[in-house]
Amino acid sequence: MRLILLGPPGVGKGTVAKKLQEEFKLPVISTGVILREEISKKTELGQKVKEIMGRGDLVPDNIILEIIKERIKRKDCESGYIFDGFPRNVEQAKSLEKVNKELNEHINYVFYFELPFNQIIDRLTSRRVCKKCGTNYNLSFNPPKKDNVCDLCGGELYQREDDKEETIKNRLQVYIKQTLPLKKYYQEKKLLAIVNANTSREAFLEIKNILKKELQK
Ligand code: ADP
Ligand code: ZN
Repeated sequence: MRLILLGPPGVGKGTVAKKLQEEFKLPVISTGVILREEISKKTELGQKVKEIMGRGDLVPDNIILEIIKERIKRKDCESGYIFDGFPRNVEQAKSLEKVNKELNEHINYVFYFELPFNQIIDRLTSRRVCKKCGTNYNLSFNPPKKDNVCDLCGGELYQREDDKEETIKNRLQVYIKQTLPLKKYYQEKKLLAIVNANTSREAFLEIKNILKKELQK
């Protein structure tokens, strides 16, 4: 099963991806997580993308494609994977199709996370992330048990550079201009399923039901 989680920033794609990973034993490939790791490890790639990400702009397609190509060829992706945050524009989607074709595989579903825009801003400003394991928390509706400490691994929580208010505006603009066209793109390919992203739990259950039915076919 090869899945894409699509939608604006802050709608819970990362959280749902983790739940799906457990449920269906599929690896999550999050380009955002991979890039943030490169930044914290201060690699050459990390240095290159740090400023771009800090502004909330998209990292160049060729860099993303290299990461993806290398990643999906690994053994753990043999029976599928879950993309979170990729593809981010039509160009990336077309490149993905090419890569998929070469490997004789295809995307089964694209899940579009729907949430009103005013809720997105609230979610992003109150989001906190574990430094160690990348788990997301939300100070209003999904806070950690202990302030600033990850429930799962005890790591320290921090606010992402691009979750600060100045950057959020630009990210949403970038989203509308570059990523939103993918909704229509995948609708036309009959791959799109719209899920209600009001809560991560609901979104997860909706997706789980669709996939369970699919697996029974
Ligand atoms: P969110 O879903 O909250 O926007 P991500 O972790 O997916 O956050 O992405 C954070 C940043 O990483 C983006 O603003 C962008 O700069 C970069 N990025 C992640 N994935 C991609 C991608 N597929 N193409 C280009 N840039 C990306
Ligand atoms: Zn953690």
